[in-house]
Amino acid sequence: MEKLLEVRDLRVHFRTHGGEVQAVRGVSFDLHKGETLCIVGESGCGKSVTAQTIMRLIPMPPGRIVSGSIRFQGQDLVRLPEREMQKIRGRSMGMIFQDPMTSLNPTMTIGRQIAEPLIKHQGMRPDQARARAVELLQMVGIPNPEERVRQYPHQFSGGMRQRAMIAIALACNPALLIADEPTTALDVTIQAQILELMQDLKQRLGTAIILITHDLGVVARMADRIAVMYAGQIVEQGTAEEIFHHPKHPYTEALLRSIPRLDDRRERLQAIPGTPPDLFAPPAGCPFAARCPYTMRVCHDYDPELEEIRPGHYAKCWLHHPYAPVVGLNAEERG
Ligand code: SF4
Ligand code: MG
Repeated sequence: MEKLLEVRDLRVHFRTHGGEVQAVRGVSFDLHKGETLCIVGESGCGKSVTAQTIMRLIPMPPGRIVSGSIRFQGQDLVRLPEREMQKIRGRSMGMIFQDPMTSLNPTMTIGRQIAEPLIKHQGMRPDQARARAVELLQMVGIPNPEERVRQYPHQFSGGMRQRAMIAIALACNPALLIADEPTTALDVTIQAQILELMQDLKQRLGTAIILITHDLGVVARMADRIAVMYAGQIVEQGTAEEIFHHPKHPYTEALLRSIPRLDDRRERLQAIPGTPPDLFAPPAGCPFAARCPYTMRVCHDYDPELEEIRPGHYAKCWLHHPYAPVVGLNAEERG
């Protein structure tokens, strides 16, 4: 498969009154054409910041890309001037957020919001762009699109606004669609319809998708590959099959245990005890050490690297590390 996006050692900090938060701490991953990568993890783990950094939508300051590269279609987005970045956002990337009201303009008709980037970035004539807007609303399943293009966001229901936002995101046939909790605020039926729509677009247009969610049911349904984030790092990465059936990182195991099982109503959702580390001053060792049931002495002293433990399956944990420093292990562990 052809590589579309290559993120390497991305580090993003935010300046605050309390100091500098290390929100993203050395994230690396690839995305191929037509592939869906789900990024999962608790809130505050850095998944949204990672996505916003790829789109270059983090406010700078207080945000700052400390290091790393984001190669997309042959260019490093970290180094691209904002003017060039705007063209990329208008031509090759689309983004869907949790709350459509934050990205829809309340003072502009839906039709104009779809048509404007087409006129600006694709050089379409206004009448062509308007026809395309109608077509897109139809495609995302909005009834009476001819009428709806003339309406404003407040005249749409929540589910329809979400669809309209998808239509805007897809107007330019983006090579990459980034969706951050796209269905979290919606009821189950509309959620299912939106996910189906995204699947359909991926199949028809070959769009690659980065889907950020904490809902593992959504992940099971959508993901080709999964990246699990914790405390600003990717702690495990692999195919959906590998992650769901052979999770290797203790945090991934705990996340999977927290899904309520459909076949056993008595089983309660198990929250993971403890809290993630303070990202103003992350620990020197493994950031999961304070919550992990397998913590060894080495875990407190050294932070393991993300290692390939099976083909295409990576984990960042001393338990699976081929070169765990023996010196740090407890006596019992050394055998
Ligand atoms: Fe647990 Fe140690 Fe693995 Fe971290 S490195 S997840 S503390 S076993
Ligand atoms: Mg978020």
